[in-house]
Amino acid sequence: ATPMSVTVGVGRAAEYGVLIRDAEAMQVAAGIDTVVLDKTGTLTEGKPQVIDCRSYGTSEDRLLALSASLEQSSEHPLAKAIVNAATTRKLPLSTQSEFKAMPGFGVIGTVDGHQLALGNQKLMTKNNVGIDLAAVDAEAIASQGATPIYVAIDNQLAGILGVSDPLRADSVAAINRLRKMKLDVVMLTGDTETTARAIARQAGIDTVIAGVLPDGKAAKIADLQQQGKRVAMVGDGINDAPALAQAEVGIAMGSGSDVAIESAQLTLIRHSLHGVADALQLSAATLKNMK
Ligand code: ADP
Ligand code: MG
Repeated sequence: ATPMSVTVGVGRAAEYGVLIRDAEAMQVAAGIDTVVLDKTGTLTEGKPQVIDCRSYGTSEDRLLALSASLEQSSEHPLAKAIVNAATTRKLPLSTQSEFKAMPGFGVIGTVDGHQLALGNQKLMTKNNVGIDLAAVDAEAIASQGATPIYVAIDNQLAGILGVSDPLRADSVAAINRLRKMKLDVVMLTGDTETTARAIARQAGIDTVIAGVLPDGKAAKIADLQQQGKRVAMVGDGINDAPALAQAEVGIAMGSGSDVAIESAQLTLIRHSLHGVADALQLSAATLKNMK
């Protein structure tokens, strides 16, 4: 039978906007020593914007129009940012064909008879596109915490876009609370190392695991568990679902995808990481009351 104090604890948590699936989850949460946070949509607002556009051998407008024409078919938040930027500039978009999303890499397809590839360094390497031309621009974009997106037209580097997704206003304060609770805080992201480190620095996070492919996040959680850590994973995306399930406690952002919420024991209905600190604090206090 569930001890009375745990039932009360689950109710208290709900008042803080933390939905706990079952009493057992609350007991497990009390023993967590490591909190792993997804970056995009969890630490950040998840509403990225294009803040930079640099073209090589073509115009910025053409670069952006072709890019947005392809990204119209993508569900990724980065894609929405690129389409919005083109729409804001009132650029006419073309229809694409042969669109293919490559999770963790980017997108490819054909627009106006040109072969297009948009994504990270890994995608360019996969397609044998040289990116030396963009080295300085990419570093400038990534070092401020924005994501560099390379654009190749017919297998030639044609430009780079910088997409910025700022931290949620209260992420820094919430991370501070977690650190004061003596928890190890780790960022886990598919984004590039330089971008991830810049955002981690702003957030007050020391440990960063970056460049992780969508199906690799759960394995990273398992690695931490192998080291003896008891892990709470916080995420919002479809690609976070296996990691949420792998962790001792999975915590989903209420704004996240249904798959993430289904895979998690806890859901934060206020879109704030304070909910993580609230949940872990309440769990510890509840378990203490039982003893
Ligand atoms: P996260 O873990 O931050 O949610 P994802 O695994 O979804 O990241 O994506 C990892 C990286 O793959 C992105 O940072 C981006 O560089 C690239 N990428 C993925 N989808 C797209 C897209 N539609 N357009 C451009 N780049 C993309
Ligand atoms: Mg995310």
